[in-house]
Amino acid sequence: MITFDSVTKRYADGTVAVDGLSLEAPTGEITVFVGPSGCGKTTSLRMINRMIDATEGKILLDGTPVQGIDPPTLRRSIGYVIQQAGLFPHRKIVDNVATVPYLLGWDKKKARARAMELLERVGLDLKLAERYPFQLSGGQQQRVGVARALAADPPVLLMDEPFSAVDPIVRTSLQEELLRLQAELNKTIVFVTHDIDEAIKLGDQVAVLRVGGRLAQLAAPKTLLSQPADEFVREFLGHDRGIRRLSFISDGGLRLRTDLAVPEDFTGPSDEPWLLVVDGARKPLGWISPDRPSERLPYGTYVKGRDSLRTALDAALLSPSGCAAAVDESGAVVGVATREALDEALAVAADG
Ligand code: ADP
Ligand code: MG
Repeated sequence: MITFDSVTKRYADGTVAVDGLSLEAPTGEITVFVGPSGCGKTTSLRMINRMIDATEGKILLDGTPVQGIDPPTLRRSIGYVIQQAGLFPHRKIVDNVATVPYLLGWDKKKARARAMELLERVGLDLKLAERYPFQLSGGQQQRVGVARALAADPPVLLMDEPFSAVDPIVRTSLQEELLRLQAELNKTIVFVTHDIDEAIKLGDQVAVLRVGGRLAQLAAPKTLLSQPADEFVREFLGHDRGIRRLSFISDGGLRLRTDLAVPEDFTGPSDEPWLLVVDGARKPLGWISPDRPSERLPYGTYVKGRDSLRTALDAALLSPSGCAAAVDESGAVVGVATREALDEALAVAADG
């Protein structure tokens, strides 16, 4: 566990970057620091591994003040990942990953074997090991950065906007990879981002900071969305807070209609404005309006009992019918959530 106990950082020019910060980052969990630019996220993170020293207050690592641990020893037990990966340009990927093992005096063979294991772990092709950083894409470099931080198996991982410089699709896959890794590794992670969506996706708990380095709220994502502490947090969460919150609500309450799915040879008539055509295995083929049964329109699906209300809503928005097709794990249609059913569920969610 990492403990911030009334930590203040005042830079030489008088800037108070962090002001009386107190919080705990529990062992084995991801704590995200989020807030606007200049709110003291990087400063807070770097005080943990003593790249910056606190002016006042204490930071404890499992109860021991970091100020009493010499920086090289401290940094061996703390992995650190930054935005542009910070790889050494003239070292091969495998040697970049083996940096800390080399520093720890491991023999070259063992260090390289460990590096290869980690490259695989973070989802990289082992062929990349013999390349140099400039020969990799931004997303691949970030994965190497994560592998390098994990090389000596440190219990703590500090990540400062590690995915902020890559495009949204790569970013999503890096986020998912991190969650997958964390499910195996259970590191104590402090993750810094200015992106509230990233914070909500990755955090077991999220610390929202305001400029001046003051803690506005510390809460689990779900609580943050449902009970923002004040106007600043509300504003920071943005106008689609309500939509984001739906990610944490199960689709369980959605009323489904089973009479709107029709076979491929359906020719009408019907009083319904929209019908969902399914094949012999009840897999969806498209929406039709009964007066034009040959024109199949796009559909969206969600897995009943597994996906959230948000996914169901996204599925409805994919289709001109405004309805979502509920499917089972095999993809077979089990019913249709109509616009009315979604409206009802959203009204219940808004009250809750
Ligand atoms: P963030 O990572 O949230 O963007 P930082 O921790 O980098 O914020 O910075 C917090 C505040 O401290 C900002 O006002 C920044 O300008 C200031 N700051 C950061 N580093 C220094 C420094 N070395 N000297 C003076 N002020 C600094
Ligand atoms: Mg920063």
